Amino acid sequence: MNIKCIRTHHVRCQLDNPFGFSQWFYDQRNVLLVEVVAENGVTGWGECYGPASVIEAAIEKFYAPKILGMNILSTETIWHHMWRASLDFARSGVMMAGMSGIDMALWDAKGKVLNQSVSQLIGGAARDKVPCYATGMYYLDLPEDVLLDKLVEEAVSYAEQGFKAMKIKVGKNVEFDEKLIVAMRKALPTTILAADSNHAYDLPEAIKIAKILDENDYAWFEEPLSPEHPELFTKLHEKANVAIATGECEQTRYGFQRLIAAGGIQLVQADLAYCGGISEGLKIRSLASANGLNMIPHVWGTQLNLAAATHFLGTAYNEPGRAEEKKLFLEYDRTENPLRDELYKVNVQVIDGEAIVPTGPGLGVEIDTTKLKDFVVNQTETNWAASVKQIAQ
Ligand code: MG
Repeated sequence: MNIKCIRTHHVRCQLDNPFGFSQWFYDQRNVLLVEVVAENGVTGWGECYGPASVIEAAIEKFYAPKILGMNILSTETIWHHMWRASLDFARSGVMMAGMSGIDMALWDAKGKVLNQSVSQLIGGAARDKVPCYATGMYYLDLPEDVLLDKLVEEAVSYAEQGFKAMKIKVGKNVEFDEKLIVAMRKALPTTILAADSNHAYDLPEAIKIAKILDENDYAWFEEPLSPEHPELFTKLHEKANVAIATGECEQTRYGFQRLIAAGGIQLVQADLAYCGGISEGLKIRSLASANGLNMIPHVWGTQLNLAAATHFLGTAYNEPGRAEEKKLFLEYDRTENPLRDELYKVNVQVIDGEAIVPTGPGLGVEIDTTKLKDFVVNQTETNWAASVKQIAQ
């Protein structure tokens, strides 16, 4: 049951319609997938959130040779082995994204070895489906009046598909943001709406936008401020009622401990492909729970991270518990992404705005290895003998 081989697959696709948010525009999507193979041939897959070719080096050159030969079931032992090996120079950052992908692949493999879903392995699904919120409404290169209409039209289309909740982008500029927040609420009076600035605002701007979100009954204000200044979240929270969500730029229980301790946050959004994987995500969720907070994973990528987050929410204990529970919504990215929509032969099923918690072994999604060839840019393999070779360019 020992790890025989670790492969990485850097996949990429060009987008037909580039889209933007408060920081920049995307014209392609890149993801690093990790494949961990046991001696008996069982294979687990994971994915990493962040710059694929940089993370690829972290896995190929650093982590993979160190964990070859370890028991593929030993997720906790392997995590701490990797952590201690890079502790002095990589307590956070892209190397942690590499650890996250390996950890996710190990959980997938463990489920396949034991013939159990990841939900079962992490404590059992409390529900068989989780409601999704549609992430979209990214910017297009259009005049603002045309753009605003297009974004509202996109949001209405998600409501028509059955989504009860969705998240818009803000942070373009305060004037446009205010118009968009109001227009969305007017078009969708009963939909649960949230807004994400991707840390675009300073404190006075964030206070202004938070008040507009309050007035329009938005469920949360995501990344209103820079992750570099966690002390500002409390100042924002003192001035506004809207829930403050953040955490997609943060990693490990240690990082989240500092973030939560600084105060002001109501929703924790660790990304399982970046925060340290499923193993660390469970610890972050416990930390959030101990502080009376819920964790809803950030999801941006392909089916593996979506499946991991679905298992995570399928097993979530809602803080505080009650008979008619407050729903925790799964982030379901609706932007153009062939790596999410075309690369897998078994996907997370989303029906009428709800994701079915996969019941197959492991993460319960399956890569189409034929399709993989269409998207792959580079692959590496680190095998038993710790000899690293490039197998494709
Ligand atoms: Mg976000």
